[in-house]
Amino acid sequence: MKSDGYQNFRAALYIRALEIAPLGDDIGVMTDRISQMLKHVRFGKVYLEIHRDMVVPERATLLALKAWFRERGIETAAGITVTIDELSDFKTYCYSDDFYRDKLKGLVQMAAELFDEIVFDDFFFNNCKCKKCIAAKGDRSSPATIEWE
Ligand SMILES: [Zn+2]
Repeated sequence: MKSDGYQNFRAALYIRALEIAPLGDDIGVMTDRISQMLKHVRFGKVYLEIHRDMVVPERATLLALKAWFRERGIETAAGITVTIDELSDFKTYCYSDDFYRDKLKGLVQMAAELFDEIVFDDFFFNNCKCKKCIAAKGDRSSPATIEWE
């Protein structure tokens, strides 16, 4: 049996930036809830999201959570969700806009400073329909395009 308690799989938890950011310097509310969860599910890994909907938790909060999990033998990694407003038709970053490319570069750098692994949530896709993105796409097809005959 592996150290995280399961023989054939590992349980993982993904905690969104929207839940981490409000914690500030008091992670107790979250760690109390997770302690309750750990009585029933032995997580081997926890993804701590560093961005979603333009919300970025403080580094100190992320480091405190990372340390709390490490003390319990639970691995951590960074999560990044490249959304501007998930509730507004999943509005994603515009990769034709220097502001968002620079922002994403900074997020990846931050994640790499804090963690050894980074996972992009499924919002790495792009649904921007600004003039620059439409021009950049040109007449290339989209993988999401389904042509019915
Ligand atoms: Zn765009």
